[in-house]
Amino acid sequence: MPATRNIALVAHDNMKQPLLDWVAKHRAQIEKHTLFATGTTGSMINSRLGLDINKLISGPLGGDQQIGSMIAEGKIDTLIFFWDPLEAQPHDPDIKALLRLAAVWNIPVACNQASADLLVTSALFDSAFERVSPDYDSYKAGRPN
Ligand code: PGA
Repeated sequence: MPATRNIALVAHDNMKQPLLDWVAKHRAQIEKHTLFATGTTGSMINSRLGLDINKLISGPLGGDQQIGSMIAEGKIDTLIFFWDPLEAQPHDPDIKALLRLAAVWNIPVACNQASADLLVTSALFDSAFERVSPDYDSYKAGRPN
């Protein structure tokens, strides 16, 4: 994994302020990397904190799926996803799909503040940490052809 990461940030509405607080707390660390976010999350990070961020489509309109496809393409290598455990979301299938693809491609994921704190303060965070890239050749070989 390269020393400069492509980090995706996503927060559900009730978790946006906690994510903004987390980004502000770790700003010096975070801003060294390339940032992506779902639409509303990204707009808030940009307008409230002044950080440069690549804004994708809003989550419920396809932004989670967009990040998932970027993970599958190797374009996102870290996911900070403050999802709301207390409120149903209209795009629940997209959220599941995003978390599934993060697991499929073995990228580091933090889904709450404590995990995000640990991830970003890891000695490996800024290093050329070599994530084990799953080998799906035998899986693909077993597919119908
Ligand atoms: P949003 O999307 O940043 O556009 O609000 C987040 C989400 O609910 O996935």
